[in-house]
Amino acid sequence: TRTPVTVTVTGAAGQIGYALLFRIASGQLLGADVPVKLRLLEIPQGLKAAEGTAMELDDCAFPLLQGIDISDDPNVAFDGANVALLVGARPRTKGMERGDLLEANGGIFKPQGKAINDHAADDIKVLVVGNPANTNALIAQAAAPDVPAERFTAMTRLDHNRALSQLSKKTGAPVSEIKKLTIWGNHSATQYPDVFHAEVAGKNAAEVVNDEQWLADTFIPTVAKRGAAIIEARGASSAASAANAAIDHVHTWVNGTAAGDWTSAGVVSDGSYGVPQGLISSFPVTAKDGKFEIVQGLDINEFSRTRIDASVKELEDEREAVRGLGLI
Ligand code: NDP
Repeated sequence: TRTPVTVTVTGAAGQIGYALLFRIASGQLLGADVPVKLRLLEIPQGLKAAEGTAMELDDCAFPLLQGIDISDDPNVAFDGANVALLVGARPRTKGMERGDLLEANGGIFKPQGKAINDHAADDIKVLVVGNPANTNALIAQAAAPDVPAERFTAMTRLDHNRALSQLSKKTGAPVSEIKKLTIWGNHSATQYPDVFHAEVAGKNAAEVVNDEQWLADTFIPTVAKRGAAIIEARGASSAASAANAAIDHVHTWVNGTAAGDWTSAGVVSDGSYGVPQGLISSFPVTAKDGKFEIVQGLDINEFSRTRIDASVKELEDEREAVRGLGLI
């Protein structure tokens, strides 16, 4: 039998946590033959609710689930962790300035990065979901100098999946026939979903759509503002699709991308496509042998260049702000 993989989830008692934990325990994160141990990290006020979720996990009698530990101490929660899903974050409240938001999240992600540095397993893989995800990932990474930088990633897979779905609706092609879509930049309103290298049933997606105005005025804003549209419709945030995307991100990272396709993830820039080195920005990526690689050599047209640059500029500004606060 295989040794269990330890998966730590922060903010485990939140909405996304509730949609995530049962799928991890059922084998959808790593594979149907991989036993898991769950570690739930919560703030003290969240511990009781986390215990309730753990009771429900028990009651599912998942054959792959080999234990659940709950803690409010990151040093305990990340001990021996192989996969860490950093979901808990400080949401932006009304009237909060960006600096305040970054500072509040620095207080969460810096100690978590240090705890990962000091206690996680050597093969630790970190996915940051809590917003502002890219910059929270940067803060955690900076606090973990002994962990290879590329093990810290930020989630743009939900944006990627949203873009797949919108393009599928527009073209009538099933999602399974759409390949090589890319989300560039920050997981924020400035993100850029790029169809210029994408394929719809083997044909170039931009040519199939053949409508630049639809791209600029409908597709891009629909993808970027989808979270707000769901809150408006459902009266609650898009927790289940966010959890689904987190599952997809880690599953791809561990098990690889299909030949002839790629996905999108916030990964540390090596300077590719003019994205300053060290920023955690979304790129087209393939995954193989447990490693993401940025797809190289794509031609970036003027339409794309302007939009990638704007999102990357926002990431640079966020990096400057957290530098100024002494968080990195
Ligand atoms: P959710 O579980 O709904 O969301 C958690 C984080 O995920 C937020 O930062 C949220 O960003 C982000 N997120 C990313 N993508 C999406 C998406 N598509 N839809 C919605 N959210 C998205 O928040 P809850 O308030 O229900 O739960 C948070 C939990 O975290 C609480 O139980 C709290 O106690 C805990 N917490 C734990 C910490 C820790 O372990 N140290 C620290 C802070 C909180 P956005 O703000 O943009 O919605």
